[in-house]
Amino acid sequence: MPTHIPHWIDGGRRDGASGRTGPVTDPATGEVTGEVALASTEEVDAAVAAASAAYPGWRDTSLARRTAVLFRFRELLNARKPELAELITAEHGKVLDDALGEVSRGQEVVEFACGVPHLMRGGFTENASTNVDVHSVRQALGPVAIISPFNFPAMVPMWFFPIAIACGNTVVLKPSEKDPSASLWMAELWKEAGLPDGVFNVVQGDKVAVDRLLEHPDIQGVSFVGSTPIAKYVYETGTAHDKRVQALGGAKNHMLVLPDADLDLAADAAVNAGFGSAGERCMAISAVLAVGGVGDDLVARIAERTRTLRTGDGRKGCDMGPLVTKQHRDKVASYVDAGEEAGAKLVVDGRQVQPDGGEDGFWLGPTLLDHVEPQMSVYTDEIFGPVLSVLRVDTYEHALELINTNPYGNGTAIFTNDGGAARRFQNEVEVGMIGINVPIPVPMAYYSFGGWKSSLFGDSHAHGTEGVHFFTRGKVVTSRWLDPSHGGLNLGFPQNA
Ligand code: NAD
Repeated sequence: MPTHIPHWIDGGRRDGASGRTGPVTDPATGEVTGEVALASTEEVDAAVAAASAAYPGWRDTSLARRTAVLFRFRELLNARKPELAELITAEHGKVLDDALGEVSRGQEVVEFACGVPHLMRGGFTENASTNVDVHSVRQALGPVAIISPFNFPAMVPMWFFPIAIACGNTVVLKPSEKDPSASLWMAELWKEAGLPDGVFNVVQGDKVAVDRLLEHPDIQGVSFVGSTPIAKYVYETGTAHDKRVQALGGAKNHMLVLPDADLDLAADAAVNAGFGSAGERCMAISAVLAVGGVGDDLVARIAERTRTLRTGDGRKGCDMGPLVTKQHRDKVASYVDAGEEAGAKLVVDGRQVQPDGGEDGFWLGPTLLDHVEPQMSVYTDEIFGPVLSVLRVDTYEHALELINTNPYGNGTAIFTNDGGAARRFQNEVEVGMIGINVPIPVPMAYYSFGGWKSSLFGDSHAHGTEGVHFFTRGKVVTSRWLDPSHGGLNLGFPQNA
């Protein structure tokens, strides 16, 4: 019997009352394990009302008390993260180690947010004009919404909510309806850490909930992560309703391999970055650009490694788990069909995989396609599955042109032993996050995460100082204390003297 997966409003679970639910499956067995509530606009309004009511008290809570709650949240998360990892694997399918890794990367943002007193510190200028002092402060926005994708049900919300909460905002999280349980676990942890009711709320739901959050007059800021068409829609709709919006979109990440690269290192990296989390990462490598004749050797090394991977149930110590839903699995497999039909060479065929998992699981093994051409759909589209395409290119310039003309600009990597070439690449490439001999260059919490072009709408990246900036707005105060020499009328524009 599937369990009901409710909302979390004002410090407690709230069963869905809209009459609408969505199925949540265990991707390794195909079994429907949960029925997630899909919120009505009234239920979203209840969550926003809780966040609005909690806001004045939380905003005025001292930094010392706010950070004490954050430290407690961090300690509880650190002690209990295997529980969260299990929940993620059960609904997303990624292997347990990978789920644990996701939680640890989210925890780093919590740790960063514990330094909020320093991060929110303003500036002070004494005697900017005679006897006039100026100081700046940053203040919270108010209730904010976070809308997250299925592929990182814990880490992506944690890119945002620790900083939002640390800065004095209150939060309504709308997680992906495909793997919603992690959000409730984190809500319960906040309560245990002593966060006042209403500061962190979860509404489960789909487009209905997202649309209501985007237009709700009390929501001041929206952090979204998901596919590019929805990110663009969220950015346009949210800003049209006068909200501050950051909307991170899809990706097509290239790995450029120069002839002087260590090909074993490059092959390891391509396999790890292409097939980790079954390719369902926005920083996954999906296109390898083999420059100047390294193709045959590189493809042979990648293929050899790919064939050793064990696909199966993420709880059984396999290398790679299933895809998130049957529908997504079939869509990814259809790209492999299309690539083969268009003339790409199928080197490893994941459609033939023998998984170590349930018969009805959503299986697709790691797939390697060689001689992919830029016009093929397997290259032009974001596939979001375990499919690695190799394109043969003659020169560095041609490889760079492919990356820079791609509509996405999330992550990229270069493999080379030539420091000058790497330096040129990092300067010329139009992508937000770059790895040099590092295939998945996810920035640390104290830097900011985000892509260029169609991979991000808005001008703030996630976490780091840009995250603090996003969740606060600035005020500048100019003050003068009584000094009789400054009396008298003067209608001129204020000038320094
Ligand atoms: P998605 O766009 O389908 O869903 C993201 C969120 O939007 C979910 O909460 C979903 O409920 C909601 N949503 C879906 N359809 C909607 C609609 N029509 N109107 C309003 N809201 C809607 O994305 P997904 O499949 O959950 O996640 C995978 C995508 O996320 C990939 O494209 C991946 O590249 C991207 N992603 C990007 C980053 C990044 O940092 N740039 C990180 C993780 C994932």
